[in-house]
Amino acid sequence: MAQIIDGKKVSAQVKARVADEVAALKEKGVTPGLAVIIVGDDSASQVYVRNKEKACAETGMYSEKYALPAETTQEELLNLVKELNGKKEISGILCQLPLPSHLNSDIVINAIDPIKDVDAFHPVNVGKIMIGDYAFLPCTPAGVMELIKSAGVDPEGKNCVVVGRSNIVGKPMAMLLLHKNATVTICHSKTVNLSEITKQADILVAAVGRAKFITGDMIKPGAVVIDVGMNRDENGKLCGDVDFESAEKTAGAITPVPGGVGPMTIAMLMENTLTAAKIQNANKLK
Ligand code: NDP
Repeated sequence: MAQIIDGKKVSAQVKARVADEVAALKEKGVTPGLAVIIVGDDSASQVYVRNKEKACAETGMYSEKYALPAETTQEELLNLVKELNGKKEISGILCQLPLPSHLNSDIVINAIDPIKDVDAFHPVNVGKIMIGDYAFLPCTPAGVMELIKSAGVDPEGKNCVVVGRSNIVGKPMAMLLLHKNATVTICHSKTVNLSEITKQADILVAAVGRAKFITGDMIKPGAVVIDVGMNRDENGKLCGDVDFESAEKTAGAITPVPGGVGPMTIAMLMENTLTAAKIQNANKLK
């Protein structure tokens, strides 16, 4: 049976580390602050935003929530982003996605000052990640790296396979593994013989968005399996992209859903907000 990688435990450790640093910054007159914008009433988004506010309180950060009606215009949203870019109490700005269909999320992300872009979605930050000279890492892939580390595994020289190539998970995930000297393969919906490739993986990251898609017979015995997926199964129960039941018999270590990558994403957001506050107050903190 595989070792279970406990995302709740690792995320609590990250948040405790961040809380210590926040307390130290406060003594120097700097309080990291996060502004979260939510447009409309998507119920999953409401839960994510609540959890982010909770994490701010837990780590001692200041937070502001802007809940805007679904009919908010692009101009109104951009005006708010502009205002927050200039607000000194706010170190990080996060616009909860997806936005209602009449709003263009690319334009909104591009309007966030890159130094306050704690999701690391702005093209400037994406480019920096590619180069390997970054302040912020995108929260979910950064959380996955922490989980791999917590399992005592070093990606260097390992065959790593990432299933999924989205801009927010798959692509940056592959890049972070590459920066750690792994040999990385990225798979997607047009990949031929997927299971032949996944079976070569010492570290397998699933970010597909399809319930229980990766089964035990697609996994190399002893592999580290990280499940980013958040789906509903046929009974409406939360489940990952990995069929946990069959996978845990083959894997060496595996993340559960829930309780794996999910809690890490928020913990890494707190870390990014702390980093943003440190950069913005570098003179004060000398
Ligand atoms: P996207 O839908 O943007 O991307 C899915 C990727 O999976 C695409 O690259 C797609 O390929 C690929 N894919 C789809 N079908 C197959 C297939 N049959 N074989 C191989 N690859 C396939 O999803 P996201 O990256 O945004 O999210 C992935 C999952 O992670 C979702 O379940 C999401 O809910 C979850 N998630 C969880 C987070 C967390 O905090 N735990 C945060 C973000 C996401 P192609 O490009 O060819 O279409």
